[in-house]
Amino acid sequence: MREVDHFIDGGYCAAASGARIAREDPATGAPLRAIARGDAADVARAAAAASRAHETWGRTPAAERSRTMLAIAAGIEARLDELARLECEDTGKPLALARSLDIPRAAANFRFFATAILHEAGESFMTERPARALNYVLRRPLGVVGCISPWNLPLYLFTWKIAPALAAGNCVIAKPSELTPTTAAVLCDIARHAGLPAGVLNVVHGLGPEAGQAIVDCPAVRAVSFTGGTVTGRRLAARCGERLIPASLELGGKNAAIVCEDADLALAVPEIARSAFLNQGEICLCSSRILVHRARMKEFTERFIDATRAMNVGDPLSPETDLGALISKAHREKVMAAVARGVRDGGVVACGGGIPRNLPARVADGAFLQPTVLLGVPQDSPCVQEETFGPVVTVHGFDRHRDAVAMANGTRYGLAASVWTRDLARAHRMAARLDAGTVWVNCWMLRDLRVPFGGVKDSGIGREGGHEALRFFSDVSNVCIATGEAP
Ligand code: NAD
Repeated sequence: MREVDHFIDGGYCAAASGARIAREDPATGAPLRAIARGDAADVARAAAAASRAHETWGRTPAAERSRTMLAIAAGIEARLDELARLECEDTGKPLALARSLDIPRAAANFRFFATAILHEAGESFMTERPARALNYVLRRPLGVVGCISPWNLPLYLFTWKIAPALAAGNCVIAKPSELTPTTAAVLCDIARHAGLPAGVLNVVHGLGPEAGQAIVDCPAVRAVSFTGGTVTGRRLAARCGERLIPASLELGGKNAAIVCEDADLALAVPEIARSAFLNQGEICLCSSRILVHRARMKEFTERFIDATRAMNVGDPLSPETDLGALISKAHREKVMAAVARGVRDGGVVACGGGIPRNLPARVADGAFLQPTVLLGVPQDSPCVQEETFGPVVTVHGFDRHRDAVAMANGTRYGLAASVWTRDLARAHRMAARLDAGTVWVNCWMLRDLRVPFGGVKDSGIGREGGHEALRFFSDVSNVCIATGEAP
């Protein structure tokens, strides 16, 4: 697909202005796509279509919505190879990862919310005084909602928002990242073939301050679900606050992995390496700070560096590749600047830190970076405090568990943490004191779609997952029926 167009009212179209954004392949540097550059005029058209469509979709029985969404899940699975290939091209991630993680999860998101709405139960309350009454809680779709997603797990996160929005009976105006729009465009074709009525799902492509801002400002939009950076999220929340519409914000992280003195290193070393470098470290949940009990520091560090050195950086199409290209050369510059800052502040690069040599000719000009381990960086360095969102970790020693918790909590973020220990009572005590929306014990990124997901502090507001997402996309009214005395 060379040109990526909006999908509005059941059909593809270019931006009203005719403008396009050029995107290059992050792995090869070659021109890749020309993407519709949407603005408020395109969003207004999408809003009109979505408002019209909501008159029927909002009243469509849950069983019927569920059937259509299950057909979309099946459609994603039927086009797995094509979608994985497009995701790999757009992001630079290994094709094998797109095939095993991104695209299957997109289908799972649709299947999960399609079936969740078949099992929703309501709440009711019997009132006795001052008069007898039955209260029950009525949940209704909001109407038209906005969904804005980032580039790191494109279809995975895009569907994680639109599936609950559609399942709850809303119509959607969505914007994927301008860097990775293609699988969202294909999803629209899948939805159309699955029988999703025109106008229920509209996708407007373009830049954040143009198309994204227009979605947040659009008077028809009744709620915004956003995943992206903390700076953007704060701006968006302020605007939603002015408009008095709810915003769900899934933002950045600076996640700690805590390795206790009794940790099983045969498990912890490979899993923490995966948690640091999967998807080139470009997952909000990636571990970027490893805190190790000093009794195991030497052993852990040696084994971790060996595991890091063993990772293959290279052509995303090769099945041997562990790390593909970063999303862009500009992003690589930012990640390398964070490493340089860590070194300036007193840290030492124990491995990686540079652009890999001897890349195959096809990808010699791509945005690759070696997985990088830094030792001795002080806690107050921006390299330790700020999200890097790349294949970079810092390793730190601790003596007491309370120091590990204090260090883990010592940034403005609070998305996730992991604890590696054989003592589950200790793990529980630590989890209760960690500022993190998710704490994994002896595992990482084991995701059950029913559990609440989100961050504390600067990592976000609100929870996605399971019932939380369906609630976010619903209005709640209480109905109170005077029943009188029983005869
Ligand atoms: P970003 O904030 O730059 O962009 C995210 C999306 O918002 C994009 O679609 C972008 O076009 C849009 N956008 C930008 N400015 C906007 C504006 N003014 N109004 C409306 N929309 C606007 O983030 P990114 O660089 O695409 O993604 C990386 C960030 O996402 C990282 O910080 C990462 O931690 C975070 N992230 C968080 C989670 C989570 O679940 N907490 C998951 C994945 C990524």
